[in-house]
Amino acid sequence: MKIKIVKNLAVLIAIAVTLPASVLAAGYTQTKYPIVLAHGLFGFDQIGPVDYWYAIPSALRADGAKVYSTQVSAANSTEIRGEQLLTQVKQILAVTGASKVNLIGHSHGGPTARYVASVRPDLVASVTTVGGVNRGSKVADFLLGIAPEGSLPNAILISITNGLSQIINFLSGGKGLTQDSLAATKSLSTAGSLKFNALHPQGIPVSTCGEGAYQVNGVSYFSWSGAKAFTNAFDILDPALALTSLAFGSEKNDGLVSSCSSHLGKVIRDDYAMNHLDEVNQTIGLVNIFETNPVSLYRQHANRLKNLGL
Ligand code: CA
Repeated sequence: MKIKIVKNLAVLIAIAVTLPASVLAAGYTQTKYPIVLAHGLFGFDQIGPVDYWYAIPSALRADGAKVYSTQVSAANSTEIRGEQLLTQVKQILAVTGASKVNLIGHSHGGPTARYVASVRPDLVASVTTVGGVNRGSKVADFLLGIAPEGSLPNAILISITNGLSQIINFLSGGKGLTQDSLAATKSLSTAGSLKFNALHPQGIPVSTCGEGAYQVNGVSYFSWSGAKAFTNAFDILDPALALTSLAFGSEKNDGLVSSCSSHLGKVIRDDYAMNHLDEVNQTIGLVNIFETNPVSLYRQHANRLKNLGL
């Protein structure tokens, strides 16, 4: 009898220990509004709009989130991409019956999402930028031939350009820059970004590297980014990111965007040991094994949105 009670007690304890974990996991990412992912620059002909967010949508869906990967022009101005994204947001709202969406944009997808929230705040619950080009990229400045004052030695400029063309060639299947690349590059330059911010200032920090307003027009704003260019020796794009990283000198950056430029609204963190492609779990999951997995960051963020009632 005693043995049976002890046995039953052990079973009960085992259930008590394992149950909370499973109960917590169920619904962990179940946000009130659908999560809409907005990709960055480049063709991604080989990767495609779904795999751009490598293994991220499925990880979010696993615990309750509704997730949509959108596709806009790979390379175009922020405004044109923004209008394309807005059309898709309306379609997602029609299909799901939801009244708003949570937008998450990577790289150029950041300003693209911000555009939608700026022109139609009523349709957006939150905007989150990941490695967002919110104050421009010095790499874009270099590409336009606008080297800043105290310009870098020529050899370094050539290295940066080489690194960028390697990344572009890989991601666009070797076709190089598309015809709209100039419009994209202008949008992503420091001058172009500041011009865009003047028209769409929501969530942008007032000081260069501070935080922005957490909420504007009923839309909540968040951001995070990496700050390490070379993170995995097996990822064939890491050497290229190490080259483009030279554009930033001593400034913290993820290889293509500076930490300060990535700031928007509430800054969750701006110095994960991740590069610009690690931020979307690329190349195919080759990321820094000594850092939190990027997929976990998206899950944590979905939970954050959920807890805020978004
Ligand atoms: Ca990587």
